[in-house]
Amino acid sequence: MAGRNHLYIPGPTNVPQAVLNAMNVAMEDHRSPIFPNLFKPLLADLKKVFKTENGQAFIFPATGTAGWEIALTNTLSPGDKVLIYRFGQFSHLWAAMAKRLGFEVEIHEEPWGCGIPLDKLAQRLQADSEHQIKAILATHNETSTGVTSDIGGVRKVMDAAGHPALLYVDGVSSIASIDFRMDEWGVDGAISGSQKGFMLPAGAALVAFSQKALQATETAKSMRCFLDLRDQMANNKDGYTPYTPSIPMLYGLRKALDLLLTEGLENVYARHYRLAEGTRRAIAAWGLKLCAQPGFESNTVSAILVPADKDARHVIATAFQKYNLSLGSGLSEVAGKVFRIGHMGDMNDVSMLGAIAGTEMALLDNGFEIQAGSGVAAALEYYRQTA
Ligand code: PLP
Repeated sequence: MAGRNHLYIPGPTNVPQAVLNAMNVAMEDHRSPIFPNLFKPLLADLKKVFKTENGQAFIFPATGTAGWEIALTNTLSPGDKVLIYRFGQFSHLWAAMAKRLGFEVEIHEEPWGCGIPLDKLAQRLQADSEHQIKAILATHNETSTGVTSDIGGVRKVMDAAGHPALLYVDGVSSIASIDFRMDEWGVDGAISGSQKGFMLPAGAALVAFSQKALQATETAKSMRCFLDLRDQMANNKDGYTPYTPSIPMLYGLRKALDLLLTEGLENVYARHYRLAEGTRRAIAAWGLKLCAQPGFESNTVSAILVPADKDARHVIATAFQKYNLSLGSGLSEVAGKVFRIGHMGDMNDVSMLGAIAGTEMALLDNGFEIQAGSGVAAALEYYRQTA
């Protein structure tokens, strides 16, 4: 099909041409005396995106899933209790990993579409007077349902209960796109990946840990080897890595960080809010509903429910086959019930309108009773008024 593919899945996201160009480099010696000139500033600038001065940032040749494992195995011992609220596919997978790694996992179920219930968390932490819960695993942005939870609120609840658990946050689809404040929110481990807000290919787990978490690496008894933070720390202090880094990835990250920091994080967040809000207006104009309950709507991905007599997979198939538009599918429990529009990373008003128009065509083709142009009109009016 002529023309480019329009990639509107919630990761991998579109890689800006400037980042692609920056990655087109010859390989170089990662043990050379000049390698730290590239590597050290990357770690320093990553901290700015995580909004931490007290913590330390790390780059692992891995993906977000490894970030979960890095947090768990580096700081906890087998049998330690961790608490997680499960309300989507990614909180489910993190809980499943924690079980497989031998931790005692206290899973609290919430309906898919909801996020972390602060009132229930407060009650649970107050009841844990012996502080058996060693870590709270919080999914900041549940990509499968388009739900954002209040991590600052989680910290407040923990402080109010005087609870010393470590706070680990999955920010894979939030960090570098929506408001995230590691130090201010007292996050002990922040986990992200390269292929979402960082606008890179998959292949780097970008993580940051507080001093409290780093101290816990000394006493944690879990097995770890490739993902051992202590090997990273020993090498990173001189600007090197414990094993061969992906040189193109590092140059790409350099460019992506430059783009993010030049735009300014607050502007990046505001842009994501606007792109999301225009999409939400289109969805409302189509008479469709978000999977996210009010108050939990994500600014990086909208998961859209289809009526019971429709199959969201048909919308996704039409969008791809007929219009070269890639939309996100519904995962596990919501397969066929939702389709997702990613509004994350390198996007602007006009590119977003393209995705909304393509989605609208696919909905019409599948017999959805919507007015042609209604979603596009709602979104473009919002974008014009707020530009
Ligand atoms: N956590 C969230 C919220 C995600 O959206 C994803 C992937 O989409 C992951 C974790 C897993 O990351 P990866 O696929 O990079 O391992």
